[in-house]
Amino acid sequence: MLIDMHNHTKISSPCSVLSPEELIETARMRGIDAICVTDHLFIEGATVAQEVGRKMNFPVFRGIEARSELGDMLVYGYYQDIPNHIPLDDLCRSVHESGGIVFVAHPYHVNGGGVNLYTCLHGRGSDLDADWDKVPVLRQLDGIEVMNGQADDKTNAKADVLASRLQVAGIGGSDAHVVDRVARVATRFDQLIRTDEELVEALKKSSYQAVRLRY
Ligand SMILES: [Zn+2]
Ligand SMILES: [Zn+2]
Repeated sequence: MLIDMHNHTKISSPCSVLSPEELIETARMRGIDAICVTDHLFIEGATVAQEVGRKMNFPVFRGIEARSELGDMLVYGYYQDIPNHIPLDDLCRSVHESGGIVFVAHPYHVNGGGVNLYTCLHGRGSDLDADWDKVPVLRQLDGIEVMNGQADDKTNAKADVLASRLQVAGIGGSDAHVVDRVARVATRFDQLIRTDEELVEALKKSSYQAVRLRY
């Protein structure tokens, strides 16, 4: 099952021009099986898009892109708004207590107003590649977005190397804000996923891989 794990709608992400209907219709036309809506900070966009998906008979799962003090994080299985600049340990604790899971979004890539872990650590005098073990909060992270549709191949390759070295799971998502970017990247799961809960369970198993899709 191919799921695009990272998309923004204009409902809660002012940086996106996509309505849920456009996002869903494009994803369906490009042949993927489901999408996650991960609007910035607010859960409303995902909730509305999921409802629209039901009416359009296309699976939409709920996520959220948090902006932590150490950069953007993709959160699944946590269905509340997340305060801007939340400390990363607070984010991980709240999400894990709710049974959810936290992935580093685009660890090396800056997109528009986005913030990444590499730059945030660098600003504090740490290096993402050399110092992972020296920054305890990083051990609470569950995985890494190893393929982001906005990042170039070289930048994604660095994220992939990091995930392999740390032996954490890797997901892929388009990070779409406009129609053309939808379903450019997805995550291939080896099982059927029908609900938000099943998605989180599948993410915890790490039997999936990020894939780039070409049309
Ligand atoms: Zn981001
Ligand atoms: Zn994003």
